[in-house]
Amino acid sequence: MKRHVLITGASIAGPALAWWLDRHGMAVTVVERAPSFRDGGQNIDVRGAGRKVVQRMGLEGAIRERTTHEEAIAFVDERNNVRARIGAEQFRGNGPVAELEILRGELARLLLDHSRGSAEYLFGDRIAALRDRGDKVEVRFERGDEREYDLVIVAEGIGSSTRAMQFGDEVRRVPLDLYIAYFAMPRGENDGAVSRWFNAPGGRSVFLRPDNLGTTRAALSLQEKPRGYEKLSQAEQKALLKERFADAGWETPRVLAALDEAKDFYFESIGQVKMPRWSKGRVALVGDAAYCASPVSGMGTSLALVGAYVLAGELARSDDHARAFAAYERIMRPYVGQAQDVPKAGPRIAQPQTRTGIALQQAALSLATRPVFSWIAGKLLSPPADKIDLPDYGQSASSASSAG
Ligand SMILES: Cc1cc2nc3c(=O)[nH]c(=O)nc-3n(C[C@H](O)[C@H](O)[C@H](O)COP(=O)(O)OP(=O)(O)OC[C@H]3O[C@@H](n4cnc5c(N)ncnc54)[C@H](O)[C@@H]3O)c2cc1C
Repeated sequence: MKRHVLITGASIAGPALAWWLDRHGMAVTVVERAPSFRDGGQNIDVRGAGRKVVQRMGLEGAIRERTTHEEAIAFVDERNNVRARIGAEQFRGNGPVAELEILRGELARLLLDHSRGSAEYLFGDRIAALRDRGDKVEVRFERGDEREYDLVIVAEGIGSSTRAMQFGDEVRRVPLDLYIAYFAMPRGENDGAVSRWFNAPGGRSVFLRPDNLGTTRAALSLQEKPRGYEKLSQAEQKALLKERFADAGWETPRVLAALDEAKDFYFESIGQVKMPRWSKGRVALVGDAAYCASPVSGMGTSLALVGAYVLAGELARSDDHARAFAAYERIMRPYVGQAQDVPKAGPRIAQPQTRTGIALQQAALSLATRPVFSWIAGKLLSPPADKIDLPDYGQSASSASSAG
């Protein structure tokens, strides 16, 4: 009998896992709470072992065709003078500008299209209740369906509700004292292939990045202790940003003017997820739901892809799910640990409170990016994307046959 696995969440980790589980001969259903494919999001990086996983899925070429073509990040002052610059070519493509950078929505769509034929997708629904019976998991969906599965894998991202049902107070979210709002806006005359990062005093930054779709991707960041802003309505969040950034200067007025029209507005309180375990009985976690490292790490998407690959591979290796979950955790924990090891002061360094702090930050960046310091800067600015020995579980896209 084929194992039947229910995956919840269809962004990055969920569809990648669906594809691999099917390759390893399992039956897969994916449930996504959004009513249809969820587009949106900004430039995300596919690095190191994450890149190897997409290669094994036969997707590297398609991702390359859709990269954002970001050439560099320039740190600019109010008059748009460049104070420091980090190029894509620096740090062997694994610095703040990654070699393989794609919009989240574009990657999610590629993964969905790649796995559609391998899995049953249910949009506009979610788990309302689940009971792990020991031999199966009974699931009741919000729309009323009741089904049972051999395993349930939660790929619902940082705020997962199914994780809360199964793991209760084991869930630990660690705030990084940073809010970020993302949205797309019309491309302006100064927007080119070089992203521009502008800091204003008071822990504020405005980041404008190119994309491959003819628009500019804006990110407004506020370095502040958690105050529950993520729970406000979207209109309230936009009003808050307009008030906080009103006197920021530079090109901020045009960014704020675009806020009202932004259809893909996405606002989050940046933090990490640290779970004492990633599985309980027949339910396991993958991607941000298990071990969100935050956008500050530059590793979220790579961790989601690698986690999906390892989890599927270990389930294929053993009929005993508990053994497979334990192996998945043993292999992934050190990799995740290194990715989550971002300095707690990172957001404060990236978004200084004072003009002096901003001047110091820009001077330090300008020094760090000189060739003479490139070795040490590489250590500080390159995420540990390769720090895992990726097992070979077979069934790659190039493999002659897939399990049926
Ligand atoms: C719309 C969107 C925009 C994003 N934009 C950025 C960005 O600009 N920069 C960045 O660094 N990261 C962004 N992220 C996060 C990034 O995708 C993840 O950090 C990373 O890729 C890991 O992906 P994941 O699949 O584990 O989780 P996520 O990408 O967070 O996906 C979780 C998925 O689960 C779904 N879901 C949630 N709860 C339930 C439920 N109860 N039942 C069923 N489905 C559920 C969500 O709708 C979502 O599709 C974004 C995520 C989303 C969903």
